[in-house]
Amino acid sequence: MIKIFIGENSGFCFGVKRAIDKAEEIAKHSKVATLGYVIHNPQAIERLKRKGVQIIEDPNNFRSTDLNGTELVIRTHGVRKEMYEQLKRSGLKFFDATCPFVIRSQRIVEKFSSLGYSVVIFGDPNHPEVVGVVSFSKSKNIFVVRKPEEVDNIPFTRKVIVVSQTTQKLDDFTEVVKKVLQKAFEVRVFNTVCEVTVEAQREAKEIAELSDVVMVVGGKMSSNTDKLYKVCKDLVKSYKIETADEIQQEWIQKAEKIGIVAGTSTPDFIIKDVIRKIEEIKRDSAEIIRIGRKNRFSAEHFEWE
Ligand code: SF4
Repeated sequence: MIKIFIGENSGFCFGVKRAIDKAEEIAKHSKVATLGYVIHNPQAIERLKRKGVQIIEDPNNFRSTDLNGTELVIRTHGVRKEMYEQLKRSGLKFFDATCPFVIRSQRIVEKFSSLGYSVVIFGDPNHPEVVGVVSFSKSKNIFVVRKPEEVDNIPFTRKVIVVSQTTQKLDDFTEVVKKVLQKAFEVRVFNTVCEVTVEAQREAKEIAELSDVVMVVGGKMSSNTDKLYKVCKDLVKSYKIETADEIQQEWIQKAEKIGIVAGTSTPDFIIKDVIRKIEEIKRDSAEIIRIGRKNRFSAEHFEWE
């Protein structure tokens, strides 16, 4: 019998689950649209569309008059500050599914930039979460860095705060912080890496150490799946896939211990498909071994200052 290792926190995090559940619930009684992609997984998006949920691909470009009678759901990564304000003014009914971890970053940047701090954000400047967080800054002295070396280009400043995009690797964030220390007299660091992501990366490492080969399952656009892939491939042969159909026989032919690591936006039905496909190729049933412990977070746990 083959062994399959799967993390306890594989698949939807509470932030994604809340957004999807809400959109599906509204779709039962009303027209509903999500502002941007609530989830970076094409198969999950297709399923939502089949359930009647419309996706507004560019949240910066919609006309509220076209949406009369449609309820909106704001994606987990949030939107720009102006958009929140526009929505409140528009009179449209909307549910704000911005993840509490992202709201925390938005509030920190807003508060400290108004107190005269420069802001350094570690992340991808084009990622919707980062674009949204940047829009909360009251100061023009805001710098987004993709890697520690980019901190060298930032001018010396008196006081600065450092935050991270929620899905970055904590170790990489630490490297950025070390560099920023050389760039100001006062440096305040806020660890805004999402703890669910940290937990998932820890699990991925454990799974990679136990396995002969790892399938990292998630959308090609999913930032946290990318980070999980990086964690695994440094330790063992790993393949990044979006669906079970991509698994090739030769990848797992000789493996007896197979790891499955899934991003926070990977739906359960895809994880189940991957298990089925592995059993089919191996012509054997699998013993499923869960790794890690279920995280304790839910949206109700958060009450940021
Ligand atoms: S910040 Fe973390 S908990 Fe929130 S949606 Fe992203 S991955 Fe999920």
